[in-house]
Amino acid sequence: MFDVIIPAAGESSRFSGNLNKLFCTVNGRTVLENSVLPFLAFQGLEKIIVAVNDENFARARSLFDGYENVTVILGGSTRTDTVKRALERVTAEFVLIHDGARPYVSDNVIKNVLDALNDVDAVVPVIKLDDSIANVKNGYSAADRENFRRVQTPQGFRTEKLKTAYARISSSFTDDASVYLTLYDDAKAVDGDVKNIKITKFSDLETFPYRSGIGIDTHKLVENRKLVLGGVEIPFEKGLLGHSDADVLTHAVMDAILTAIGERDIGVLFPDTDEKYKGISSMLLLKEVLSRLDMRGYVVKFVSATVACQRPKLNPYFDKIRTSLSHALSICKDNLSLAFTTTEGLGLVGAGDGISVIASATVVAKQ
Ligand code: MG
Repeated sequence: MFDVIIPAAGESSRFSGNLNKLFCTVNGRTVLENSVLPFLAFQGLEKIIVAVNDENFARARSLFDGYENVTVILGGSTRTDTVKRALERVTAEFVLIHDGARPYVSDNVIKNVLDALNDVDAVVPVIKLDDSIANVKNGYSAADRENFRRVQTPQGFRTEKLKTAYARISSSFTDDASVYLTLYDDAKAVDGDVKNIKITKFSDLETFPYRSGIGIDTHKLVENRKLVLGGVEIPFEKGLLGHSDADVLTHAVMDAILTAIGERDIGVLFPDTDEKYKGISSMLLLKEVLSRLDMRGYVVKFVSATVACQRPKLNPYFDKIRTSLSHALSICKDNLSLAFTTTEGLGLVGAGDGISVIASATVVAKQ
């Protein structure tokens, strides 16, 4: 019989923006659920103790509301303190301890640990190193990677022995086997899984951290208005009509970015019924779009846009527009592709009644 402790009380300080990694989604469930629920399928499980910080307590509790053998408790200020507190509640013969931010744990790894506990009192899943390693403590010396392993969780222990080890330590440790080994020397390594990573940065959440979107926009050309494209004012006898400065190029680019992250379009975000957007520079709206992107943990990587315009000729303004827009997007000029085209006199663009733009944006998860 075994209990499970899930220490999840750390601040995710290395993570992206204001996001809380425990509640980000992987395969349709939160990281925390993915780290906890696989243990429920194993015979011999008595209970799972999830230890979180004060800030996450209510949310974690509601996540596991329906599970009678999952208990949420308050952790301590360090991982070691957190495990100490949770251990007080452990009553089963064995205990498995698994990081709350390892959502890709497989049944195989859990089984390897449980099986080995039939023979030994401490089990640690490990994986081989792919890179060569070196010892840099006094200068530099080569080390044989065959003698070393990367250490994962869940780690399994005979409860009484781990409790005894924890009762005697006063400093902090990064894992439980290290605590166990302060008193005993009989830990056994079993096969871990390279996919069983600990989430530390946003891009760990997705195997493919790129997303892309498309935006399209058209504005009417009328007299007594300015013609603004990509934040650049183009001298012309007409300008674009709209509630804002009607920068059709920037509008299409914003919609491309917003659709890349699954947000609603600029018509919804900046409604033309709102006085505060009347005559506003679209560069300011772009700033707002980029801050939403940042909150979602992404940055712009590439933008490509084609402007369909019969008149005026835009080629003389190519560099100016590309410089202005790439600067506003915080990307290098080479990552902003621009094309100008006409419609050979056809349609509303061909008649000189308006300008249309189609744009695509590729965004990438922040590292
Ligand atoms: Mg528009």
